[in-house]
Amino acid sequence: MDWPAWLIIFGATFVLMELAAWALHKYVMHGFLWSLHRDHHVKPKNQKWERNDLFALFFSIPSFLFILADSLWKIPWLGAIGFGIMAYGGAYFLIHEVIIHRRVKLIPRFNNWYLEALNSAHKLHHSNLEKYNSVSFSMLVVSLPYFKKAWRRNRKR
Ligand SMILES: [Zn+2]
Ligand SMILES: [Zn+2]
Repeated sequence: MDWPAWLIIFGATFVLMELAAWALHKYVMHGFLWSLHRDHHVKPKNQKWERNDLFALFFSIPSFLFILADSLWKIPWLGAIGFGIMAYGGAYFLIHEVIIHRRVKLIPRFNNWYLEALNSAHKLHHSNLEKYNSVSFSMLVVSLPYFKKAWRRNRKR
């Protein structure tokens, strides 16, 4: 397999993962698996890990298996999917855990219209503590008004 094809599969997987994460969040985490997602919305005091973290584990399993299959049996397109899932997981971790919720203090606070838009969309998602009637279930792409507002705010600085 030549590298442009590999990159296309890798990139497509990354994009599809945003869709998968959105659907999982909206229909499953705020649906029949709310019991696992609830502690991300209503966080018990002094609790470091959340049940919600299990979802990260859930996505890392297929990623690991695809990369393993590629290295054992030389199936590059499976590897491309595996690395695409892994890259998305890394991006999600950076945006959601590090930048928005600051569970790990790796980098200083941001001053950037893109990150601010993601942050305000996700904070609005968290403003609802219940299973139903939440908004903004996506992570790396949020709806246009958030970007517009953040863009304007940043231009004024
Ligand atoms: Zn949620
Ligand atoms: Zn969150």
